Amino acid sequence: MTDAADRLLVNAVVHTLTDPDTVFEAVAIRDGEIIRLGDSYELEFLEGVETDVIDCDGRVVLPGFIDAHTHMEQLGQHLVHADLSTADSAADCLEALSAQADRDPDREWVLGFGYDDSAWESGPLTRADLDAVSEDRPVVAMRVDLHTASLNSVALERFADDLPADDLRTADGEPTGVAVEDAAEAVRRQLTADRDELREVLSAATQYAVEHGVTGVHDKVRGSSAPRVYRELAANDELPIRVRIDYWSDHLESLVDVGLTTNAGSDRVQTGAIKSFSDGSIGSRTAKLQEPYAAVAAEPDAECESADHERGQWVVDPDELGTLVARADGEGYQLCIHAIGDEAIEETLSALEETSDPGGRRHRIEHAELLTDGQIDRMAEAGIVASMQPNFHRWAGEGGLYDQRLGEERRLRTNRFRRVLEAGVPLAFGSDCMPLDPLLGVQHAVTAPTDAQRLSVTEALRAYTHGAAAAGFDDDRLGTLAVGKRADLVVLEASPWTQAERIDEIDVAMTIVDGEVVFDGREA
Ligand SMILES: [Zn+2]
Repeated sequence: MTDAADRLLVNAVVHTLTDPDTVFEAVAIRDGEIIRLGDSYELEFLEGVETDVIDCDGRVVLPGFIDAHTHMEQLGQHLVHADLSTADSAADCLEALSAQADRDPDREWVLGFGYDDSAWESGPLTRADLDAVSEDRPVVAMRVDLHTASLNSVALERFADDLPADDLRTADGEPTGVAVEDAAEAVRRQLTADRDELREVLSAATQYAVEHGVTGVHDKVRGSSAPRVYRELAANDELPIRVRIDYWSDHLESLVDVGLTTNAGSDRVQTGAIKSFSDGSIGSRTAKLQEPYAAVAAEPDAECESADHERGQWVVDPDELGTLVARADGEGYQLCIHAIGDEAIEETLSALEETSDPGGRRHRIEHAELLTDGQIDRMAEAGIVASMQPNFHRWAGEGGLYDQRLGEERRLRTNRFRRVLEAGVPLAFGSDCMPLDPLLGVQHAVTAPTDAQRLSVTEALRAYTHGAAAAGFDDDRLGTLAVGKRADLVVLEASPWTQAERIDEIDVAMTIVDGEVVFDGREA
């Protein structure tokens, strides 16, 4: 007598995404683990009276997607509060905030996230703007980069003593409601200081993740509340996905103190890497480049650039980064360093190459958008992970953002996934929550402008499953479908291989984590 399966998925097209990819018709799950793959009739003997048999009706089953670069708190804020990221004007923002105030009359604070005033005449939202939304409830709108917060009069009064006056803009001696830098950061922290609020925000974000087929994330966490809330949610069985927490580097000494090292934790919530930055971004001309940015003359609204900034700027300079890398590596931590421009990648790579065992520690470069050939070969040699975002290919077209900022030659050098894979660099895909949607990323990877930037469907899916799992030391239990692995699966309504031009339009039918159905959106 054989122990029955808890769950059987039959009549499916099951891709294991192992190397090479193998296709089965059915998968059997017991105690959250894959116990058998085979033809539907072969697995019938595992059906007991209590077995949940799911007829997949020809749908495609893959390992669950693992997003190697997320910001779940920010994603959740956009979902729970007013999403200002698509607003084209200050008026649009105010309309969205007013709608939010009406929709949620019992929530005292009216919050909006992600506005971008760079294309407006009027500049950041002001106190006067936001007083029009409400004169008795506090209203706060955060700019997309989180370096500016806009407050109405009530919110300004509430925060009065907590905000450094130097970073509060004034006009005629009166605060305009625009808070920058340290003041903006103080506002941002206050907004999630309440753990109930953070629980709601992270729950919304993880629900969004499972609806997009994501079974695990490597979340870049800035404050210290989110890790605690993740663990509480997991303890209450309310965390539907696996979360690997990559901590902002200012947490390093506290983590060392309490003995939380890389890979410590449960099967649901783990300590990941120490995260730091070397440079900024290409869009804001702050990514650090070996050669100057393309001339700005073509852009009439651009301001005169100072010579210092024509090759971008350091967020953390190479000396400071080197010290951090040595310290974290010395304590046994994995590192993930944001480096986008070729100069930033050069310095980051040099710092990581200095560590004792870069490949064994699986140190990572996040984004790595503008790699040179030599850098790709050095990453392969050292075993350093490229944690890249295929959705960034949306800037790769002729006349697109990369073209404007970098010019033709360097545009064609961005995000060369094929070159990276062929050199033997471990490749992990993530979204940076721009937006969180692996199938959209896969779509970009398979339709990229040049051969060097393009992957096959199987390769792109592997980077979002096995590749991301390996970047989080999870390839022994996640990332492919095989007997003995955890049952983290996604069921798709259509096949990415037969619908390769519109992979982004494929709906997620079901998401299963640890053998449990955490999302069921099957069409009748
Ligand atoms: Zn990021």
